[in-house]
Amino acid sequence: MNSGPNERSAPPIRILDVIRKKRDGLELSRAEIDALVLGYTNGEVADYQASAWLMAALIRGLSGAETAALTDSMLRSGTVLDLSAIPKKKVDKHSTGGIGDKTSLILAPVVAAGGLAVPMVSGRGLGHTGGTLDKLESIPGFNVNLSASQFQSVLQKCGCAMIGQTQEIAPADKKLYALRDVTGTVESPSLICASIMSKKLAEGIDALVLDVKTGSGAFMKSEEDAAHLAGLMVETGQRMGKQVVALITGMDEPLGQCVGNALEVAECIDVLNDRGPEDLRQLCMELAGWMFLLGGAVASIEQGRALARQMIKSGKALERFREMVVLQGGDASVLDNPDRLPQAQHKMEVASPKAGYVTAIQCEQMGTACVLLGGGRERKEDTIDHAVGYVVHKKVSDRVVAGEPLCTLHYNSESRAARARELILESYQIGDAPVAVTKPLVRKVIRA
Ligand code: URA
Repeated sequence: MNSGPNERSAPPIRILDVIRKKRDGLELSRAEIDALVLGYTNGEVADYQASAWLMAALIRGLSGAETAALTDSMLRSGTVLDLSAIPKKKVDKHSTGGIGDKTSLILAPVVAAGGLAVPMVSGRGLGHTGGTLDKLESIPGFNVNLSASQFQSVLQKCGCAMIGQTQEIAPADKKLYALRDVTGTVESPSLICASIMSKKLAEGIDALVLDVKTGSGAFMKSEEDAAHLAGLMVETGQRMGKQVVALITGMDEPLGQCVGNALEVAECIDVLNDRGPEDLRQLCMELAGWMFLLGGAVASIEQGRALARQMIKSGKALERFREMVVLQGGDASVLDNPDRLPQAQHKMEVASPKAGYVTAIQCEQMGTACVLLGGGRERKEDTIDHAVGYVVHKKVSDRVVAGEPLCTLHYNSESRAARARELILESYQIGDAPVAVTKPLVRKVIRA
């Protein structure tokens, strides 16, 4: 039977038209965003078309309605995990990305040891920033590709589990994230919000703590832009009935001392042994404190910090980490002997060209230096060298003598090391007078 004039179905959406509409700065409908996201996820939309759309979205921006539609569409590209069989509050944290930002590996076992469940779905390195999955994979055998049921089983047994996206959990983000990494399309608040919130909302969590970075190493360089992104994400979480808090934190220099996948895992093991750099320890206590508070394990942020400290001092967090590593197939002997993590063949000191004080560090370039060493990707198909990276010896406000090492590079290729060394030297600003670090690590807390 022929359909009458009012019964005709809408004409199919052409992806070329969706790209052109965004290129021209027009608002896309829900159906158009669905066509792009779901078409790309199932392979009907090509990489080059999705790349063109991402660039148009980054330059033109997305409205609030488009951002909400994109987040929902990416969330619906998979399913929401049902973790109701686990009789604990489920809490997670996610960072917008930084250099030396390794807090997830410390927080998951700390918060699990404190009695909450931490189902963590993370990403790989993005642009100049490092990624949790790449760090975890530097532990020999560690499997981040668990199925949803394996993920639940690990979570049930040890209270935390850390994986990447699967076909079940926001697969659209998995594909779009990898494409954004290599097409210069990361720095859009709407794309970051949809990427983070789609995978976090698919985890079946009750509450989420967001670490929104600001500064020269962050995607959001200004505090104002970081607050805007934080607001978008808190609002999205609230719309979905979750408790969400965002901490705006500084990323004007690498966090901790180690940058590079295996080096960062070793530094996390240090912190779980109640050692390690003060800035990293402090940020972990703040984030864990909020996770405990939102998860109802404590009545105040002070109690949350104290519980986190106790989980580290007692060795309980380290034991949780060990359990998770074993359950996910990793070699837990690295916890007792971090030298068993991948080691670079060579080390080289990057010496200060002059005496003075470190007045600033161009932190994005520091991140790029790690990518150049082979610790991140320049093309989607690149493989990571887990062993490479560097150890930072001098941070902002430190005094330095001419010839003293600013960093030590760990490398496997002379030519890569030469490029990274140059970039690190360019990143350090050394002046005659000391500068005081006046801004706190946690700049602002944003709640619904
Ligand atoms: N982390 C994510 O998961 N996605 C982004 O877009 C940025 C940081």
